[in-house]
Amino acid sequence: MKFKDWLDVVFPRYCLVCGKSVFEAYENFLCIACFANLPLFIFSIEAANNPIIKTFWGRCEVRYGGALLVYQSGSPYSQLFKEIKYRDRPDLGRYLGYSLGLQMRKRHAAALAEIDVWIPVPMTRKKLASRGYNQAVCIAEGIQSSLGISLELNALERIKDRGSQTRKSRIERWLNAKSVYVCAPLAAHVKHVAIIDDVLTTGATIEACIEAVRMKNDVKISVFALGYTES
Ligand SMILES: [Zn+2]
Repeated sequence: MKFKDWLDVVFPRYCLVCGKSVFEAYENFLCIACFANLPLFIFSIEAANNPIIKTFWGRCEVRYGGALLVYQSGSPYSQLFKEIKYRDRPDLGRYLGYSLGLQMRKRHAAALAEIDVWIPVPMTRKKLASRGYNQAVCIAEGIQSSLGISLELNALERIKDRGSQTRKSRIERWLNAKSVYVCAPLAAHVKHVAIIDDVLTTGATIEACIEAVRMKNDVKISVFALGYTES
Protein backbone atom coordinates (compact mmCIF):
# COMPACT_ATOMS: atom_id res chain seq x y z
CA MET A 1 0.00 0.00 0.00
CA LYS A 2 1.34 3.41 -0.97
CA PHE A 3 1.74 6.00 1.75
CA LYS A 4 -0.97 8.23 0.24
CA ASP A 5 -3.43 5.30 0.04
CA TRP A 6 -2.64 4.46 3.65
CA LEU A 7 -3.51 8.05 4.63
CA ASP A 8 -7.00 7.55 3.11
CA VAL A 9 -7.61 4.66 5.48
CA VAL A 10 -6.39 6.53 8.53
CA PHE A 11 -7.89 9.92 7.64
CA PRO A 12 -10.86 9.25 5.33
CA ARG A 13 -11.80 12.14 3.03
CA TYR A 14 -15.24 13.06 1.81
CA CYS A 15 -16.62 14.55 -1.39
CA LEU A 16 -17.37 18.22 -0.64
CA VAL A 17 -20.52 18.06 -2.78
CA CYS A 18 -22.29 14.78 -1.88
CA GLY A 19 -20.42 13.69 1.25
CA LYS A 20 -19.48 10.26 -0.10
CA SER A 21 -16.01 9.08 0.92
CA VAL A 22 -13.38 9.65 -1.77
CA PHE A 23 -10.10 7.95 -2.53
CA GLU A 24 -7.72 10.87 -2.22
CA ALA A 25 -5.07 9.30 -4.44
CA TYR A 26 -7.42 9.53 -7.43
CA GLU A 27 -10.06 12.11 -6.54
CA ASN A 28 -9.44 15.76 -5.62
CA PHE A 29 -12.05 17.24 -3.27
CA LEU A 30 -14.97 15.75 -5.26
CA CYS A 31 -15.98 12.18 -6.08
CA ILE A 32 -15.82 11.17 -9.74
CA ALA A 33 -19.61 11.39 -10.16
CA CYS A 34 -19.84 14.95 -8.76
CA PHE A 35 -16.81 15.99 -10.80
CA ALA A 36 -18.40 14.62 -13.98
CA ASN A 37 -21.62 16.53 -13.28
CA LEU A 38 -20.04 19.91 -12.44
CA PRO A 39 -22.44 22.60 -13.73
CA LEU A 40 -19.90 24.12 -16.11
CA PHE A 41 -20.24 27.63 -17.51
CA ILE A 42 -20.08 26.82 -21.21
CA PHE A 43 -20.09 30.24 -22.94
CA SER A 44 -17.25 31.42 -25.13
CA ILE A 45 -15.34 34.21 -23.31
CA GLU A 46 -16.01 36.70 -26.12
CA ALA A 47 -19.45 35.65 -27.37
CA ALA A 48 -22.16 38.30 -27.71
CA ASN A 49 -24.47 36.16 -25.59
CA ASN A 50 -21.91 35.70 -22.81
CA PRO A 51 -23.93 36.47 -19.64
CA ILE A 52 -20.93 37.88 -17.75
CA ILE A 53 -20.33 40.49 -20.45
CA LYS A 54 -24.10 41.16 -20.52
CA THR A 55 -24.13 41.75 -16.75
CA PHE A 56 -22.05 44.90 -17.37
CA TRP A 57 -23.98 46.24 -20.36
CA GLY A 58 -24.76 49.92 -19.85
CA ARG A 59 -22.44 50.05 -16.83
CA CYS A 60 -18.92 49.46 -18.07
CA GLU A 61 -17.27 47.86 -21.05
CA VAL A 62 -15.98 44.34 -20.53
CA ARG A 63 -13.88 42.63 -23.22
CA TYR A 64 -13.90 38.96 -22.13
CA GLY A 65 -15.90 37.18 -19.44
CA GLY A 66 -15.32 33.68 -18.10
CA ALA A 67 -16.34 31.39 -15.24
CA LEU A 68 -15.83 27.75 -14.31
CA LEU A 69 -19.30 27.03 -12.91
CA VAL A 70 -22.86 28.23 -12.93
CA TYR A 71 -23.64 28.95 -9.28
CA GLN A 72 -27.10 28.30 -7.88
CA SER A 73 -27.63 28.99 -4.20
CA GLY A 74 -29.08 25.87 -2.61
CA SER A 75 -27.48 23.54 -5.17
CA PRO A 76 -25.11 20.95 -3.62
CA TYR A 77 -22.32 22.59 -5.64
CA SER A 78 -22.80 25.89 -3.79
CA GLN A 79 -21.07 24.07 -0.92
CA LEU A 80 -17.76 24.42 -2.77
CA PHE A 81 -17.98 28.22 -2.60
CA LYS A 82 -18.79 28.17 1.13
CA GLU A 83 -15.80 25.88 1.76
CA ILE A 84 -13.47 28.28 -0.05
CA LYS A 85 -14.83 31.41 1.59
CA TYR A 86 -15.56 30.41 5.18
CA ARG A 87 -14.04 27.04 6.01
CA ASP A 88 -10.35 27.62 5.58
CA ARG A 89 -9.98 25.85 2.21
CA PRO A 90 -7.59 28.03 0.16
CA ASP A 91 -6.37 24.74 -1.41
CA LEU A 92 -9.82 24.16 -2.92
CA GLY A 93 -9.81 27.72 -4.33
CA ARG A 94 -6.43 27.04 -5.97
CA TYR A 95 -7.63 23.71 -7.37
CA LEU A 96 -10.80 25.18 -8.91
CA GLY A 97 -8.85 28.20 -10.19
CA TYR A 98 -6.41 25.79 -11.82
CA SER A 99 -9.39 23.96 -13.41
CA LEU A 100 -10.81 27.26 -14.72
CA GLY A 101 -7.44 28.03 -16.30
CA LEU A 102 -7.32 24.60 -17.97
CA GLN A 103 -10.85 25.00 -19.34
CA MET A 104 -10.01 28.39 -20.85
CA ARG A 105 -6.59 27.36 -22.14
CA LYS A 106 -8.19 24.75 -24.38
CA ARG A 107 -10.38 27.21 -26.27
CA HIS A 108 -9.12 30.75 -25.74
CA ALA A 109 -5.32 30.77 -25.63
CA ALA A 110 -4.95 33.63 -28.15
CA ALA A 111 -7.53 35.89 -26.46
CA LEU A 112 -6.06 35.23 -23.01
CA ALA A 113 -2.60 36.19 -24.26
CA GLU A 114 -3.94 39.75 -24.79
CA ILE A 115 -4.37 40.20 -21.03
CA ASP A 116 -1.32 41.84 -19.41
CA VAL A 117 -2.13 41.48 -15.70
CA TRP A 118 -4.73 39.73 -13.56
CA ILE A 119 -5.99 41.41 -10.39
CA PRO A 120 -7.99 39.52 -7.74
CA VAL A 121 -10.74 41.49 -5.95
CA PRO A 122 -9.02 42.62 -2.73
CA MET A 123 -10.38 42.59 0.83
CA THR A 124 -9.61 45.03 3.63
CA ARG A 125 -6.49 44.37 5.71
CA LYS A 126 -8.69 43.85 8.74
CA LYS A 127 -10.74 41.15 7.03
CA LEU A 128 -7.65 39.51 5.59
CA ALA A 129 -6.13 39.35 9.06
CA SER A 130 -9.25 37.71 10.51
CA ARG A 131 -9.75 35.20 7.65
CA GLY A 132 -6.08 34.49 7.00
CA TYR A 133 -6.39 34.45 3.20
CA ASN A 134 -8.26 36.13 0.35
CA GLN A 135 -10.19 33.52 -1.64
CA ALA A 136 -9.95 35.60 -4.84
CA VAL A 137 -6.13 35.53 -4.53
CA CYS A 138 -6.17 31.72 -4.11
CA ILE A 139 -8.32 31.36 -7.23
CA ALA A 140 -5.96 33.69 -9.10
CA GLU A 141 -2.95 31.61 -7.98
CA GLY A 142 -4.72 28.51 -9.33
CA ILE A 143 -5.33 30.22 -12.67
CA GLN A 144 -1.67 31.27 -12.66
CA SER A 145 -0.52 27.66 -12.25
CA SER A 146 -2.44 26.53 -15.35
CA LEU A 147 -2.12 29.62 -17.57
CA GLY A 148 1.17 31.17 -16.43
CA ILE A 149 -0.47 34.60 -16.07
CA SER A 150 1.02 37.67 -14.43
CA LEU A 151 -0.66 38.56 -11.11
CA GLU A 152 -0.80 42.07 -9.65
CA LEU A 153 -1.59 41.91 -5.93
CA ASN A 154 -0.61 45.37 -4.73
CA ALA A 155 -2.14 47.95 -7.08
CA LEU A 156 -5.83 47.58 -6.19
CA GLU A 157 -6.74 48.02 -2.54
CA ARG A 158 -9.94 47.82 -0.54
CA ILE A 159 -9.75 50.74 1.85
CA LYS A 160 -12.95 50.26 3.86
CA ASP A 161 -15.75 47.87 4.58
CA ARG A 162 -19.08 48.72 3.13
CA GLY A 163 -20.98 48.34 6.39
CA SER A 164 -24.60 47.31 6.45
CA GLN A 165 -26.29 48.01 3.11
CA THR A 166 -29.82 47.27 4.17
CA ARG A 167 -30.75 50.68 5.55
CA LYS A 168 -29.18 52.65 2.71
CA SER A 169 -30.95 54.01 -0.35
CA ARG A 170 -29.85 52.89 -3.83
CA ILE A 171 -27.92 56.12 -4.38
CA GLU A 172 -26.20 55.80 -1.01
CA ARG A 173 -25.25 52.20 -1.77
CA TRP A 174 -23.87 53.17 -5.15
CA LEU A 175 -21.79 56.05 -3.73
CA ASN A 176 -20.66 53.75 -0.94
CA ALA A 177 -19.55 51.01 -3.37
CA LYS A 178 -17.61 53.52 -5.47
CA SER A 179 -15.45 54.67 -2.58
CA VAL A 180 -14.27 51.33 -1.17
CA TYR A 181 -11.55 50.53 -3.74
CA VAL A 182 -8.53 52.57 -4.86
CA CYS A 183 -6.01 51.66 -7.53
CA ALA A 184 -2.45 52.81 -8.14
CA PRO A 185 -1.16 53.52 -11.66
CA LEU A 186 -0.12 50.25 -13.34
CA ALA A 187 3.09 49.70 -15.34
CA ALA A 188 3.09 51.55 -18.68
CA HIS A 189 2.98 48.33 -20.75
CA VAL A 190 -0.33 47.25 -19.13
CA LYS A 191 -3.17 47.79 -21.61
CA HIS A 192 -5.56 45.02 -20.61
CA VAL A 193 -6.48 43.97 -17.06
CA ALA A 194 -8.50 40.94 -15.89
CA ILE A 195 -10.39 41.18 -12.59
CA ILE A 196 -10.92 37.89 -10.72
CA ASP A 197 -13.53 37.11 -8.04
CA ASP A 198 -15.04 34.00 -6.48
CA VAL A 199 -18.69 34.55 -7.41
CA LEU A 200 -20.26 37.09 -9.76
CA THR A 201 -23.88 37.95 -8.97
CA THR A 202 -24.97 41.56 -9.53
CA GLY A 203 -21.49 42.60 -10.60
CA ALA A 204 -21.53 45.57 -8.19
CA THR A 205 -18.23 44.62 -6.51
CA ILE A 206 -16.43 44.09 -9.80
CA GLU A 207 -17.93 47.26 -11.27
CA ALA A 208 -16.52 49.23 -8.32
CA CYS A 209 -13.11 47.59 -8.91
CA ILE A 210 -13.24 48.40 -12.63
CA GLU A 211 -14.04 52.05 -11.91
CA ALA A 212 -11.14 52.27 -9.45
CA VAL A 213 -8.72 50.70 -11.97
CA ARG A 214 -9.89 52.99 -14.79
CA MET A 215 -9.63 56.08 -12.61
CA LYS A 216 -5.81 55.85 -12.92
CA ASN A 217 -5.36 53.60 -15.96
CA ASP A 218 -6.50 53.66 -19.58
CA VAL A 219 -6.97 49.90 -19.99
CA LYS A 220 -9.33 47.28 -21.38
CA ILE A 221 -11.00 45.12 -18.76
CA SER A 222 -11.98 41.44 -18.68
CA VAL A 223 -13.80 39.64 -15.85
CA PHE A 224 -13.34 36.06 -14.56
CA ALA A 225 -14.96 34.25 -11.63
CA LEU A 226 -15.22 30.70 -10.34
CA GLY A 227 -19.00 30.97 -10.28
CA TYR A 228 -21.54 32.93 -12.27
CA THR A 229 -24.94 33.28 -10.57
CA GLU A 230 -27.82 32.83 -12.98
CA SER A 231 -30.56 35.39 -12.38
ZN1 LIG B 1 -19.72 13.51 -4.71
